[in-house]
Amino acid sequence: MYDLIVVGGGVLGAFHAYHALEAGLKVAILEKDKAPQEATTRNFGQVVPSGMDSKWQTYGRESLKIYKSIQAKFDVTVRNNGSVYLASNQEEQQLIEELFSINQSNGYTSELLSKEACLAKYPGLRRDYAVGGLFFPEEVTVEPKTMIHRLLEYLIHEKGLAYFPNHQVVSCSNTGNGVWLETAAGNKFKGEKVIICNGRDFKTLYPEIFTESDLEVTKLQMMLTKPQSKSYILPGSILTGLSIRRYEAFHECPSFAEVKSREPKDSLEKKWGVHILFKQATDGSVILGDSHEYADAKDSDDLGYDLNMDIDQFMIDEAKKIIDLPTYEIAHRWFGVYSQCKTKDIFQQTIDEHIHVVTGIGGKGMTGSAGFSKEHIEQLFN
Ligand SMILES: Cc1cc2nc3c(=O)[nH]c(=O)nc-3n(C[C@H](O)[C@H](O)[C@H](O)COP(=O)(O)OP(=O)(O)OC[C@H]3O[C@@H](n4cnc5c(N)ncnc54)[C@H](O)[C@@H]3O)c2cc1C
Repeated sequence: MYDLIVVGGGVLGAFHAYHALEAGLKVAILEKDKAPQEATTRNFGQVVPSGMDSKWQTYGRESLKIYKSIQAKFDVTVRNNGSVYLASNQEEQQLIEELFSINQSNGYTSELLSKEACLAKYPGLRRDYAVGGLFFPEEVTVEPKTMIHRLLEYLIHEKGLAYFPNHQVVSCSNTGNGVWLETAAGNKFKGEKVIICNGRDFKTLYPEIFTESDLEVTKLQMMLTKPQSKSYILPGSILTGLSIRRYEAFHECPSFAEVKSREPKDSLEKKWGVHILFKQATDGSVILGDSHEYADAKDSDDLGYDLNMDIDQFMIDEAKKIIDLPTYEIAHRWFGVYSQCKTKDIFQQTIDEHIHVVTGIGGKGMTGSAGFSKEHIEQLFN
């Protein structure tokens, strides 16, 4: 009998397990795949509390502490090389200056960078693009393809996690003093509490709850360049003008609504939900993205399984207007899907006193999960 069984070994499930283990509980994770391979492995690996609204900035700042403290003991691919928002015109410059003031009052360190400072720090940045930048020195990146596997290894070997890959949970039944979980292969596990962090899988457990909810799924197209020349270093997370016009943190800036009201309604970036981000991986390649296409949870299959090459070409063309990378030759293209609520910042449902569902963390899971799940575990286990 476990004190806690977590269903789903993505970043949200893994950090719930982490905090429960830290609290001395006996914990298992049941993951349906051989290794997690959903949104948690398909993203940029940008840990950017700077882009979140005030509530999620608090979780994100807690996450930074947690990532750094784990990294000090075990390599989970955390690199502390900061994030920058690059403004491309006076409206975006105004927004980064306003966010700088907000962060000064929040006690969150950021630095305004001049155009020349941006050009010196970010090689290849185009002089005709950058007007200025806002830099967050405390922020980190992780390697999305590796981080979760290293974190699970850490939890198994250093914290005593019982981890069961290839275990798809197909039912949960309340036994009065706990829950029996059954897997597709017929294995049974008993836990006092269950937390279901199922990401975007709405067909297996409690499908009726998800169908009736306001959860939606978002498909994002991504690309990875071939490794850049050895001497080319692009440090940290690079977010650009369209991200300034999109991320929640900027919604709290006094001039945000006015800036948005002046945007053309029928642009390709609006149609495909494109904003341009760059992050260099440890082998020198650069992750480029992304786009956003939406469907209701019950219609998730409508998003399709193919990649739209017009979207990719548009993103490459826009990226080239920002940074002259030594090569824009693409080595890999893929899409990732995350779930989110239309009206809330996260989806939480208590099925009964022993079974809790948490998903729909949206585009903020690599940033917010560690901090959010700390508070959630404290609430559930007092
Ligand atoms: C392209 C892209 C870029 C992104 N970039 C960033 C970024 O730079 N920074 C950031 O903060 N966030 C980013 N995000 C968001 C972030 O990746 C997600 O918020 C996060 O990974 C969601 O984690 P999760 O654990 O909820 O879901 P998932 O990663 O989907 O994990 C859910 C897990 O549950 C398992 N599962 C489901 N059902 C069952 C079952 N019945 N039994 C057993 N196992 C089950 C699945 O196999 C899966 O492994 C990005 C997302 C995408 C798609």
